[in-house]
Amino acid sequence: MDKLVFFFGEGRAEGTAKMRDLLGGKGANLAEMTNLGIPVPPGFTISTEVCRHYYRSGGEYPPGLEEEVEKALKRVEEVMGARFGDPSNPLLFSVRSGAPISMPGMMDTILNLGLNDQTVEGLAQKTGDERFAYDCYRRFVAMYGDVVFGLKPQEKDERDPFEVILEEEKEERGVRYDHELSAEDLKDLVRLYKEEIKRRLGVDFPDDPREQLWGAIGAVFRSWNNPRAIAYRQLNDIPDDLGTAVNVQSMVFGNMGPDSGTGVVFTRNPATGENCLYGEYLMNAQGEDVVAGIRTPQPINKRQKGESPLPSLEEEMPELYNELEKYCKSLEKHFRDMQDVEFTIQRRRLWILQTRAGKRTGMAAMRIAVDMVKEGLIDEEEALLRVEPDQLNHLLRPVFDPAEKGKALQEGRVVARGLPAGPGAATGRVVFFASDAEERASRGEEVLLVRVETSPEDIRGMNAAQGILTARGGMTSHAALVARQMGKVCVVGCEALQIDYKGRQMEVGGHIIREGDYVSIDGTTGEVILGKIPTRPSEILQVLLEKSLRPEESSTFQIYDQLMRWADAARRLGIRTNADKPEQAAIALAFGAEGIGLCRTEHMFFEGDRIDVMREMIIAEDSESRRKVLRRLQPMQKEDFKGLFKVMGSRPVTIRTLDPPLHEFLPANEREIEELAEKLGLSPEELKAKVRALHEANPMLGHRGCRLGIVYPEITAMQAQAIFEAACEVKREEGIEVHPEVMIPLVGDVEELRDQRRIVDEVAEEVFERYGLEVKYKVGTMIEIPRGALTADEVAQEAEFFSFGTNDLTQTTFGISRDDAGKFLRAYLEKGIWEFDPFTKLDRRGVGQLMEMAVKKGRATRGDLKTGICGEHGGEPSSVEFCHQIGLDYVSCSPFRVPIARLAAAQAAVREKKGA
Ligand code: PEP
Ligand code: MG
Repeated sequence: MDKLVFFFGEGRAEGTAKMRDLLGGKGANLAEMTNLGIPVPPGFTISTEVCRHYYRSGGEYPPGLEEEVEKALKRVEEVMGARFGDPSNPLLFSVRSGAPISMPGMMDTILNLGLNDQTVEGLAQKTGDERFAYDCYRRFVAMYGDVVFGLKPQEKDERDPFEVILEEEKEERGVRYDHELSAEDLKDLVRLYKEEIKRRLGVDFPDDPREQLWGAIGAVFRSWNNPRAIAYRQLNDIPDDLGTAVNVQSMVFGNMGPDSGTGVVFTRNPATGENCLYGEYLMNAQGEDVVAGIRTPQPINKRQKGESPLPSLEEEMPELYNELEKYCKSLEKHFRDMQDVEFTIQRRRLWILQTRAGKRTGMAAMRIAVDMVKEGLIDEEEALLRVEPDQLNHLLRPVFDPAEKGKALQEGRVVARGLPAGPGAATGRVVFFASDAEERASRGEEVLLVRVETSPEDIRGMNAAQGILTARGGMTSHAALVARQMGKVCVVGCEALQIDYKGRQMEVGGHIIREGDYVSIDGTTGEVILGKIPTRPSEILQVLLEKSLRPEESSTFQIYDQLMRWADAARRLGIRTNADKPEQAAIALAFGAEGIGLCRTEHMFFEGDRIDVMREMIIAEDSESRRKVLRRLQPMQKEDFKGLFKVMGSRPVTIRTLDPPLHEFLPANEREIEELAEKLGLSPEELKAKVRALHEANPMLGHRGCRLGIVYPEITAMQAQAIFEAACEVKREEGIEVHPEVMIPLVGDVEELRDQRRIVDEVAEEVFERYGLEVKYKVGTMIEIPRGALTADEVAQEAEFFSFGTNDLTQTTFGISRDDAGKFLRAYLEKGIWEFDPFTKLDRRGVGQLMEMAVKKGRATRGDLKTGICGEHGGEPSSVEFCHQIGLDYVSCSPFRVPIARLAAAQAAVREKKGA
């Protein structure tokens, strides 16, 4: 096996930033920083290969690991001038996980490793501070108990066992704060913690520092597969087999007294993208105090101070602030990206503990990318890759209706203010537990998750909530980081909240808020407001759709617009939209759609009493009575199509002939049957008999798609007539050269298409003759069942275009029903049988293979065959990338996903060019 352990320290490191896969993000960056001459405490990284070996071999380490660790340890001892386990001059370590892709707060960290009853005395002597030494020791025992021995709360309202002991000790000593406990008290705590471990687990706490070290290393590797890490990977599409590295690094102390401290700083504002250091720190504290959000930290500089009564680092230690700023600038320049930097000040000496690309909101991602192009740090193509397409959703998120919010202000309903950690406006019913958030959300309720602080266990509940509100913690607390990444509205550190989990209520500013009450939060200002406040569209929508803002009035819009223009210049794929109504088409156009890729004509009948006419047609006994109903439907359809054509102008408009899974249209219950029977002049029994006759055991595979038009050709004829008459009339009345594309669904055999196409062409000819003009049109098909793909060379004889209906193609390729898959899908995902839901993200290997083959076969028959996709995958970034790779001409997605598809298409083109 190759090298397993990589040393860094004193300006020299064995790794580099490029070795991310092997060293993890943290390890690679520690190495890189060391090489850059940044003051990083020395240490070593155990590679991800060791983790993979550990899992492959059922918990064994590769041969040679121990020797390599010993060697690296010796080097660290030399650099630090201290020895691991030396009672007079002990060296202590932190042990942290670090995967190739950052997973904030997901994995476990242990600090102060190497302390025992002897070394703690050495530490006390070395620092001249016995209290400090024992404080480190009791924290270490608690962390080790939690991470290595797994002593943590099991139930949602159970308390942390070490926290309980600490509280009891404080009560006994009659003190309120941790720092009021004496060295003796802390000594007591160490003993009590160890006894608790022995009592609960029957094991002795390891005194031997080497035993501690190997225990910690094993725990980090095992934490790769803890439930919250697995949940995080699932939510973020991170493969399970990457593994984590372990970083063992010498400790420096932020809790060595009033001239020590620790903090986290972003090189730019992670919420807005503004180019100014943004962060927070705590004096006399250790790193986990900031990240865990237990104390509310101080602002990093004057600019950020706002209403905080606490002094900033810039004011308290200006020379250290300047030094920090200098390192931040050089790190940002080196990595050419916004960094999230952890630092510690030990007795007025600044150490940088880690740096990584900072998580940011969609807004910040866009602003930073566009600014960095202007600053010459990156080029336009790189800027395109810097924004996750899905993050554009953040920008489309609503804001409060200003009038309604003004009213709330006047009425004194703003009851508290926290830190604005995730922008946007959220309103919902308060819940205090993540599991309740999930449950209520699954019932369609809007909820707001309120916690003292969040932990990684809360992830699914956070995902389900409209917004997240916490009582403690700063801008870099777990809640803040995760919310920003999810694009959730979030307010943290709202200290005015008195949360009573047991009573399922909270008190704030004299108001009692119970579970289920409405509360609103403003993630841009940090305000917490009683009651429900209606929201309204984001600035971008106000410019694009409402026109209530002019483009030059919104810098957000300008940045968005700039990025989108770069995207349009870079992409090769065309972008269309799935729209059935003129209003939807108009939204899509504003977002940059270049045509309609799918108009589901059956959706045009969902509204008002049209559905009854449609139902009447479905249950018509014979062709004559059906024709009668169709004559009533025809003018409605024609008007619909005219509306669409007018909005879309000369852009292509793909109209699909009727494809109604019958169960979506027939009356479902007694009441509906009675009502419809009355309208149709039938008895309920007669209607019931007809509905029964039409009943299908498997409607998704039933009499739908082209099968309907084949059995009832008059339906296809009516629709074709409506399409061509609408086209002729819009051409005549408005002078618009429309481009209809008639699409036949669910074709599995070229003969089906030939049959339907003949009807369409005949009607077209008849209409054109009657109107005395012609409209250019195309006839094509959806490829959405495997046989259509397998025989695509034949199908292309009749089809001028293919549009992949990947909803049905996924259904039929997997042999799972779109309607029923939900029942077992979750189990599949949890067991890792499938890495993702194939209805959301395209299954490249199976469904994708059929698509790729169909494109090739189709083009072999017809060189200028046009190809696109109109299933839901058309707006999902990874699927868009695949469509680019197999050479489709366009993707079509719902209107609000059009910007996402534009960016995803541009990224696919840029990545291809860069050979990535
Ligand atoms: C599809 O199957 O992917 C498709 C777009 O058609 P529908 O969802 O209407 O069946
Ligand atoms: Mg379909």
